[in-house]
Amino acid sequence: MNIKGVIERYKEYLPVTEKTPIITLCEGNTPLVRAVELEKMLNLNAEVYLKFEGQNPTGSFKDRGMTLAVSKAKEEGMQAVMCASTGNTSASASAYAVRAGMKSFVVIPEGNIALGKLAQALIHGATVIAINGNFDVALKLVREITDEYPVALVNSINPYRIEGQKTGSFEICDDLGFAPDYHFIPVGNAGNITAYWKGYKEYKEAGKINNLPKMMGFQAAGACPIVEGRVFEHPETIATAIRIGNPASWKMAEAARDESGGLIDKVTDDEIIESYKILAKNVGVFCEPASAASVAGLIKTVKSGYFNDKQADIKLKIVCILTGHGLKDPDRAIKCVSSPETVEANKENILKLMGY
Ligand SMILES: *Cc1c(COP(=O)(O)O)cnc(C)c1O
Repeated sequence: MNIKGVIERYKEYLPVTEKTPIITLCEGNTPLVRAVELEKMLNLNAEVYLKFEGQNPTGSFKDRGMTLAVSKAKEEGMQAVMCASTGNTSASASAYAVRAGMKSFVVIPEGNIALGKLAQALIHGATVIAINGNFDVALKLVREITDEYPVALVNSINPYRIEGQKTGSFEICDDLGFAPDYHFIPVGNAGNITAYWKGYKEYKEAGKINNLPKMMGFQAAGACPIVEGRVFEHPETIATAIRIGNPASWKMAEAARDESGGLIDKVTDDEIIESYKILAKNVGVFCEPASAASVAGLIKTVKSGYFNDKQADIKLKIVCILTGHGLKDPDRAIKCVSSPETVEANKENILKLMGY
């Protein structure tokens, strides 16, 4: 039985002491699902694994960092936590604040937050403040306020967030018994790609793995500041969790890319939605649109011929991070499919629609 969260599991790698109160919802230990269907579709001599972070307590990887950020805030005697959020950070912060007996304040961009995420923050009792500005504006305001008041900032610029999130790499290596060759991941504020890279490097230093993966980050085409090397004043994408025009961990994401010999590229909303549907219909995994950017990135990379000279005798090992759960954004799912047909209530009608 797994009753431990990521802090207890990996405390030797984390900045905690005996005195740190461990605020946990038993996050982490998420499934690493092999997607044979994708391997076949892509005709790739590789094993493709999906790390389904939607299985975390609040439905996204944010919980890995939040358990540590809130534990440290509690240790430091803070009474409240605050974040700017495209949704998942607020869902996570508000839940962990409840565990810690702290207040939570959330600033969100008006009208651009998935329904499930908003519901979570509200039901956990967060004070939710919608502003008529985008995420980047929200983060700037939250930084100013938390600098001045005894409120802990729990966005990913909080170093404990990155520390907690690096446990994702540890789990992948522990589950596989080695590090993957390629690590595909959506990039928004770029905290997660930074965290995974840090985790892999630390595991190598600790002698747990022998090689490091190439970090393959993917932004949405309408919000791809790192790819184009410029701030996006008006980022646009249906993948709201990566709708970021000026990533907080920009430089560190570039370092992860360059040190690992990977890349950061973009995928269009159409490509994201296509992968989102493939994952649901062909693999059986329902993730949120932003999460599908990793798999859209893999598909794009394969199509570009990137792997042509890299498919050796041994199968490549590829991991794609599916960052959040599909139920977060039910509206998007419904928009992507045709609505059920209503018929007169009799057996023939039903059988006809069943195809018999
Ligand atoms: C936060 C989030 C991202 C982006 O992660 P960053 O660390 O900001 O790059 C991607 N997908 C989901 C579901 C998220 O919640």
